[in-house]
Amino acid sequence: MSVNSASATFVDRHIGARRQADIDSMLKAVGYGTVDALVDTAVPNGIRQDVALRLKDALSEVEVLAELRKLAAKNKTAVQMIGQGYYDTVTPAVIRRNILEAPAWYTAYTPYQPEISQGRLEALLNFQTMVQDLVGLPIANASLLDEATAVAEAVLMMRRANKNKAAHDGKTVLDADCLPQTIAIVKGRAEALGFEVEVADLSQGLPDGVINGVVLQQPGVSGRVFNHAAVIAAAKERGALVTVAADLLALTLITPPGEQGADIAVGSTQRFGVPLFFGGPHAAYMAVAKGLERSMPGRLVGVSKDDAGVPAYRLALQTREQHIRREKATSNICTAQALLAIVSSFYAVYHGPDGLKAIAETTHSHAATIAASLKAAGLDVLHTSFFDTVTVSVPGKAAAIIAAAEAKGINLRHIDGDTVGVSADETTTQAIVAGVLEAFGAAAVDAAAGTDTEFALDAAVERSSGYLQHPVFNTHRSETQLLRYIRRLSDRDLALDRTMIPLGSCTMKLNATAEMEAISWPEFASIHPFAPDSQTVGWRELITDLEDQLTEITGYDQVSLQPNAGSQGELAGLLAIRGYHLSRGDDQRTVCLIPASAHGTNAASAVLAGMKVVVVATAPDGSIDHDDLNAKIEANKDVLSAIMITYPSTHGVYDADVREVCDSVHSAGGQVYVDGANLNALVGLAQPGKFGGDVSHLNLHKTFCIPHGGGGPGVGPVAAKAHLAPFMPGNAATWTEGNDVPISASRFGSAGVLPISWAYVKLMGAEGLTEATKSALLAANYVAARLNEYFPVLYTGEGGLVAHECILDLRGLTAKTGVTAEDVAKRLIDYGFHAPTLAFPVAGTLMVEPTESEDLVEIDRFIDAMITIRKEIDQVANGDFSVENSPLRHAPHTASAVVSSDWTRQYPREQAAFPVHHLKQDKYFPPVGRIDGAAGDRNLICSCPPLSEFED
Ligand SMILES: *Cc1c(COP(=O)(O)O)cnc(C)c1O
Repeated sequence: MSVNSASATFVDRHIGARRQADIDSMLKAVGYGTVDALVDTAVPNGIRQDVALRLKDALSEVEVLAELRKLAAKNKTAVQMIGQGYYDTVTPAVIRRNILEAPAWYTAYTPYQPEISQGRLEALLNFQTMVQDLVGLPIANASLLDEATAVAEAVLMMRRANKNKAAHDGKTVLDADCLPQTIAIVKGRAEALGFEVEVADLSQGLPDGVINGVVLQQPGVSGRVFNHAAVIAAAKERGALVTVAADLLALTLITPPGEQGADIAVGSTQRFGVPLFFGGPHAAYMAVAKGLERSMPGRLVGVSKDDAGVPAYRLALQTREQHIRREKATSNICTAQALLAIVSSFYAVYHGPDGLKAIAETTHSHAATIAASLKAAGLDVLHTSFFDTVTVSVPGKAAAIIAAAEAKGINLRHIDGDTVGVSADETTTQAIVAGVLEAFGAAAVDAAAGTDTEFALDAAVERSSGYLQHPVFNTHRSETQLLRYIRRLSDRDLALDRTMIPLGSCTMKLNATAEMEAISWPEFASIHPFAPDSQTVGWRELITDLEDQLTEITGYDQVSLQPNAGSQGELAGLLAIRGYHLSRGDDQRTVCLIPASAHGTNAASAVLAGMKVVVVATAPDGSIDHDDLNAKIEANKDVLSAIMITYPSTHGVYDADVREVCDSVHSAGGQVYVDGANLNALVGLAQPGKFGGDVSHLNLHKTFCIPHGGGGPGVGPVAAKAHLAPFMPGNAATWTEGNDVPISASRFGSAGVLPISWAYVKLMGAEGLTEATKSALLAANYVAARLNEYFPVLYTGEGGLVAHECILDLRGLTAKTGVTAEDVAKRLIDYGFHAPTLAFPVAGTLMVEPTESEDLVEIDRFIDAMITIRKEIDQVANGDFSVENSPLRHAPHTASAVVSSDWTRQYPREQAAFPVHHLKQDKYFPPVGRIDGAAGDRNLICSCPPLSEFED
């Protein structure tokens, strides 16, 4: 590991501790002479890959950007009027540059530590308020993965929440005017869970039979705006719950689903300022009627109070989530689309209610002009009541019209050989309208055609209620004011641009700026997911190339990049296993073994895949308890579907006997799912596809540098052996049935962020990637070695070494002093740090993952903070102050607490705010003190509170 050339390479910049002197001092602390000696001891010989990764040579930043430019040039931008759930939009520059492209926002972690996340929590609360107002329902989450999966979540929620005995076990009915990708995703989920789905034209009334829940779409994929009041009333009459998938922009003009009696509203917020991104990432929303909030999936921001009684935000009702509820969780959603939800919320803050309405009216009037002109030209416009989408019957001529439009640089929707769809949006202009009409061979009639009353919105669905009245949507009109609001919020938060975020299992490593550059280039960002293949050559080349590299890295035979979070990769992988067993007539193989230490998403995903979870115990040394494993394999050998193991384990150790575990499961006829979220400990050293795995998911938002975005976007590719190839996710837009159950709304999921991982792999090359893994091991072992005497490291493997993370056990100190792991986590905030992972996978512990990207100086700063905190714990032990009166229990300290004139604490103010010297220059004060989450859960407030709450 030495630097040969004078000018630093990208690898030098990605890896924090790369100077030989730093490496040597870390090795010395760990007690090894060379990094390779350490790695050779830590990683079991039996799983080591014997050949280097076959990847192309590393490129420089300049070269990578040039390659990306070449790929971008192979895509063709066009006026995107295809619709079908995706609409062009303008991302205001102030939002693009200062949020989407700003590290203070995109490098933040999920706001589990609310005291250092008040800025993004406020933005997400704005998102929830925006959704609640527009859909007319009282509680919205923030957020879900895409519209189609949000509908699937709503369907599952209706199945859980429908308490009407007669209706509970009935079928789920979807309107035929739902998006095709929505219908496909719901059918795929339903098949695994064994409930009936019927698709019917609900404008003709409800079908016969017992109905659990109904899904409607407003406007429908045909563009039709239909008054749902009667069908919703009929459904309720029959004991069914009702979900409406609704377009938020349309709802500025149309009666919201909540006012028509819907129980749940879902949809995409993409057209609120988020680029098309070739299909994602975009935030989906879900809002529910009162009484349903506790069974709602996804994250929910609520208002609570801090220890001084100051209102403060935090994630509410977390006990619903998969981390705690595991196989009883309401859904498997973990990473969602926080950054995109934040962008959408700021779009509403930027435009305000009047601005949004004006955009909607202009969009509608362009669509009306198109409809009236086509009608005047003698064409058959299929619906008279629409918002932005006009469907035209053109018998036998669809292909020719679409080709004519394409020649003018306009993409229209090819519905079938006889029907064309045209969707207007925020970017539509009169010139574009004229181009569309020419493609149809219709003369552009004068603007008065737009006022043809036949194409006015049906008066019965015209919205009369107000929305977005809260000051936040009405005060930031000038860019100066908005810029400062954005900055004010991001200044409240700690993200990677200020401090290391040593979160075990989450791999918060460098998100290099060069890797981020391409995502907002129009040739990537402005491509519609259903654009013709001829316009997406560059995108598909990049995607295939990335799939190939990941195939090589993991040792599997194929990779699909479709799943848009780790949880979705898990579901895709488990559905593949399920499909495989079914194809062999092994219908009874439904049991999934999951170690007790697994991430909560594992169990939740297994349930969604129709499996029964059987938990395998942990041995005292943290590895899988073999006796228990063998007993459970034996007891379930005829019904065993799979085991889900995490490797290295969530305990941060390479279990030496992983091959043995895989072999026992295989010989009982089961498949092995390797959770690859910890791949940062494997890349270049070992391949799950070679040491026994049949299928894995990876987290590109961990190992492969996609930033965490404050809780998403994510990409959770599924990688599998050849025998599972027929069961990899298919394309939801065209899928009707078959083994290739689609997992996300669009074919390549969060395509928009794939250039980040593509660039990372190219910049590092095989050697750089392998070196990164080794450096991550060195850093984790250095932290473990330095801190072990202060906080014992719970689990170690061969040679007393850990893998890429280590668990610090606080339980002994807690028993002795009352100081908890949470106290330490909160006290770290006073030192300017984001806490390590708290209480996972073992309660009462902290799990530290420094990653390869941190400099030794930063790692040492963290270690010094932890050692100083240990001294404070000793002060409690020595009776200097009680735990209740300690700086640990009172942490974090706000500026207002520290400067208060009635300081009565038993420790000095300096110790509160400046426990180590360097903080005097660089001090982060959290905006609120420790937050009482439970109080907020008892009294749930999930919208922007009146501003008066924040005064006094
Ligand atoms: C992060 C993680 C997951 C879930 O990934 P998401 O993208 O948040 O859905 C699953 N397993 C492990 C071990 C993880 O660390």
